[in-house]
Amino acid sequence: MSRVAYVNGRYLPHRKATVHVEDRGYQFADGVYEVCEIRDQRIIDERRHMERLQRSLKEVRIQLPMSLRALSVVLHETVRRNHVCNGIVYLQITRGVARRDFTFPSSTTTPSVVVTARNLDRAGGEKTAHNGIVVATMPDQRWARVDIKSVSLLPNVLAKQAAKDQGAREAWLVDDRGFVTEGGSSNAWIVTDQGKLVTRPTDHDILRGITRTVLLDVIAAEGLELEERPFTVEEAYAEREAFVSSASQIVMPVIRIDGRNIGTGKPGPIALALRRTFHRKAEFS
Ligand code: PLP
Repeated sequence: MSRVAYVNGRYLPHRKATVHVEDRGYQFADGVYEVCEIRDQRIIDERRHMERLQRSLKEVRIQLPMSLRALSVVLHETVRRNHVCNGIVYLQITRGVARRDFTFPSSTTTPSVVVTARNLDRAGGEKTAHNGIVVATMPDQRWARVDIKSVSLLPNVLAKQAAKDQGAREAWLVDDRGFVTEGGSSNAWIVTDQGKLVTRPTDHDILRGITRTVLLDVIAAEGLELEERPFTVEEAYAEREAFVSSASQIVMPVIRIDGRNIGTGKPGPIALALRRTFHRKAEFS
């Protein structure tokens, strides 16, 4: 089935979907993005993702070049045209095309908007969750504003590749005091021996994951205890469970970190339960 991408007002065959060489996303990583889960042809938590998008745009001073309503139509249309049943929709907005110069281009430059969507193997995702994933820790070498969902992801790329080279599926980034910030493309969680969920508070050191936000509602509804505080790698090694959260992985149990088994070395019951119940608190559109 042929894929379609939305590029600046047009739906194009995926292989012909290109941006200009002087797009500032290409030249400077001068742009922001969002990824939403698609489940049963519906977009998950679109409202929250669009709120975060608006915040990211504001922080980097890019103006959304269309109404939110029009953008929503484009997201849904891209999902529809790609026949996505279960997968993701990706949205990227850059400062647009202009002669390469570090400072902002003229205010008449229109930001670029690209939307793609694709199916993911839902059964495969369930199988991965059933088996759990392996994590390797890496130094967090990112900039100081990772709360902005910027397309500038080189440190994440390098950390995730280094993790992959060690046979791990995700990198857990560690700050210079030995505390885990988050995953290379996910938020990081542990479950203590007392059954408390621990995740780092959202300041400028992590991205405020939408999945993380919804999980806070799920945790409250299930009557589970939550501590928003930094945790060290050593603590993670010793606790009962670990998992990551993101739009594309939902809740993914972690069974090993840096070669050490977490808990029994099998996916933990709390992580699996949160994965099962997550969509009760999520919004479908
Ligand atoms: N942290 C980082 C660095 C990410 O890249 C992502 C998702 O891509 C997340 C956290 C999880 O965010 P969300 O739950 O909104 O997908």
